[in-house]
Amino acid sequence: MTSTLPANGNGLSSDKALVQQDLAELVPTVSAQISARLKSAGVSFLANDNIADYILPGELQALESEVSDRVRDLLRTLVIDIENDHNTEETAERVARMYLHEVFKGRYHQQPKVASFPNVKELDEIYTVGPITVRSACSHHLVPIMGNCWIGIKPGSRVIGLSKFTRVADWVFSRPHIQEEAVMILADEIERLCQPQGLGIIVKAQHYCMKWRGVREPQTSMVNSVVRGDFRHDPSLKLEFFELVRQQEALLST
Ligand SMILES: [Zn+2]
Repeated sequence: MTSTLPANGNGLSSDKALVQQDLAELVPTVSAQISARLKSAGVSFLANDNIADYILPGELQALESEVSDRVRDLLRTLVIDIENDHNTEETAERVARMYLHEVFKGRYHQQPKVASFPNVKELDEIYTVGPITVRSACSHHLVPIMGNCWIGIKPGSRVIGLSKFTRVADWVFSRPHIQEEAVMILADEIERLCQPQGLGIIVKAQHYCMKWRGVREPQTSMVNSVVRGDFRHDPSLKLEFFELVRQQEALLST
């Protein structure tokens, strides 16, 4: 086997390695490049923001590799012998994939395509969709939030298919969140997609940072809601929405 590198012992190969190391330190990491791009565009990149528009082709793979390296560092810092532990030897790669493409995909991937159609029959009766399973993680501890969501719509000029609500909710919730902000962001996206005359959203979720750690209270759940447009201005519509959700919940327990 031949090598183009100078033989060990003359000092050149270690010099070359040092130069390569210095160069590597001069080249910004992909996470630093994406952050710099977001900052120069003046765009927010909080935990529950989507940054897909600022990730160039190929960068997500490079980011996955960088996150793996940092998770490996974290495991070593936790004094876990990942070189010899068969259970954790590939944990860093799994966690990086899970964060970027599954549980936090709503930060790094574009919104699923949602086609809207003109409301040709001028439907204006309210309807609800739910329960939609929502999965998120708290921004404070990165542990799961699992729950159900109900969406009520009084249609406006555009309509979207029922299954699209599920896709958009999944995309919005798949980021580190606090529940109150998740509901607001979902409402913004639905308003943008179909401009309803009225919109109501209820989310009921269990927070593992209360079940698994902290007060360790297994039964506590958090319920919050947002109402917009006619649901906000007309108390009878808001009541109708809450009543429809109550009936849907009752159906589940029969
Ligand atoms: Zn938490």
